[in-house]
Amino acid sequence: MTLFERIIAREIPAQILHEDDLCIAINDINPQAPTHLLIIPKKPIIRVSLSSHEEVSILGHLLWTGGEIAKKLALDQSGFRLVINNGPDAGETVPHLHVHLLAGRSLHWPPG
Ligand code: 5GP
Repeated sequence: MTLFERIIAREIPAQILHEDDLCIAINDINPQAPTHLLIIPKKPIIRVSLSSHEEVSILGHLLWTGGEIAKKLALDQSGFRLVINNGPDAGETVPHLHVHLLAGRSLHWPPG
């Protein structure tokens, strides 16, 4: 099982902020902004570049959920960023797809 599958199975503790049939959202253990969540599909898709067309609705659901969580946390006016790291150059460290939701400070662009 991946680290995130073990969190989804409650084998490893995490602060769970949202859960539905397709995904879970947790606080990142090493936050890079005042708000830093991970939106994780329950299906252990490894990364975007290894997803299949049958998984398009899951990929869309992750983005939509990010927007809904941001609105619930009143982050939609100040702004927020959704990020997916795909592969080593992008900084991917956990091979189970996840969307980072970052907010609560002014974020640099372009990202480092
Ligand atoms: P990646 O670098 O793969 O895009 O993102 C992995 C993220 O998972 C990192 O931001 C890292 O801090 C977070 N992470 C790693 N291990 C754990 C953990 O055990 N619990 C939680 N909540 N986050 C973790």
